[in-house]
Amino acid sequence: MPIEVRLRCTCGKVRGVARAVSPNSGVRAVCMCIDCQTYAHAIGRSSDVLDKNGGTEVFQLALGQVEIQEGTEQLRCLRLGPKGAMRWYTECCKTPAGNCASSARIAVVGIPHLFMDHGPDAGARDRDLGPVLGRVQGQYGPGQLPPGTHPKFPLSMVLRAMRIVARAHLLGLVKPSPFFDERGQPAVTPRVLSKEERARFREMCGSAGLTRDQAR
Ligand SMILES: [Zn+2]
Ligand SMILES: [Zn+2]
Repeated sequence: MPIEVRLRCTCGKVRGVARAVSPNSGVRAVCMCIDCQTYAHAIGRSSDVLDKNGGTEVFQLALGQVEIQEGTEQLRCLRLGPKGAMRWYTECCKTPAGNCASSARIAVVGIPHLFMDHGPDAGARDRDLGPVLGRVQGQYGPGQLPPGTHPKFPLSMVLRAMRIVARAHLLGLVKPSPFFDERGQPAVTPRVLSKEERARFREMCGSAGLTRDQAR
């Protein structure tokens, strides 16, 4: 049975809901890519966003499944570069709230675990979202990686994300979105990191990722 999952920033100023959530309606994944790590450092939340392998856990769902009901004015958008993903966070307590593509037409958003409130029960997140389906971009993850970690982004995960987008269009779950306006423009003007800023935050990332990234 699909359920509603409450969304809440750490301080509680920003609140909302993710609707029609079920293990089949989204993709629960852990991303270790250098950009997700860099972002966690840029907003100053790396210690509680990233796991020990530099992974960020997100639940990807359709844009229109997400509604922000309180504190919308706290939403900010950060891009690591001019063409980078639009990463939304809250100004009040720097909680990462949603990772969107660079265009609203790709109607999928990854909600980072910190922004989802499953209540006090242990295991509630597993019950609500199902198990983690993929650990991706392990090439950037420092330390001993969990078994089954994919070094890059496997096709199966791309297909799952595409299925969410297709389902979103089919069910009319594309709009409205707290992150984009009617014309598909970001709800607030994104801040784009300068090359220097990005480099500074990248230096804080896990050593494996940094070395491999510099080697590219
Ligand atoms: Zn807050
Ligand atoms: Zn990532």
